[in-house]
Amino acid sequence: MSKPLANRLDAVRLAADSASLERRFPLAGFPRLADSLVTSEGDATARLSFLGIAEGVPGCELEVAATLALRCQRCLRAVDVPVRSAGRLAFVAGDADAARAPDDVEAVTCDPRAVDLHALVEDELLLSLPLVPRHENDDCGPREVARVPDESEDSRAATRPFAGLKDLLKH
Ligand SMILES: [Zn+2]
Repeated sequence: MSKPLANRLDAVRLAADSASLERRFPLAGFPRLADSLVTSEGDATARLSFLGIAEGVPGCELEVAATLALRCQRCLRAVDVPVRSAGRLAFVAGDADAARAPDDVEAVTCDPRAVDLHALVEDELLLSLPLVPRHENDDCGPREVARVPDESEDSRAATRPFAGLKDLLKH
């Protein structure tokens, strides 16, 4: 089993080596995600490809994927929602480094020699959560306790994190 510090990555060295790696994390190990999950069985998979973002600024392509058991907001039963995120990160020690990262790169302020991969993966999962998780119509149960107002983007709501935001703001 991995030790706690095993998830601290030296991004400076990994970027110099153009290293790629893959890690799996049990969903049960993410405390900030726990409130959203009906069950915390299963893993999240993280794939990283390290590269230099700018002179002296290491970074990586990070892809996170998991299937999350969320609570359907229409029938209140569990619904499995596959989530996936992909982005390019720069690990910056301070504002001077951040200023050198291009606009399309997400700057993460941290010690680039001790990057907390576990926290990064949890952040990505939290950002990937649909605001209104729901079954596709045919799979949904009969109870409609928490029905949300009708909207035309039914089928896309589960995969687009902010698709339900407009409706939530009406309440
Ligand atoms: Zn449902």
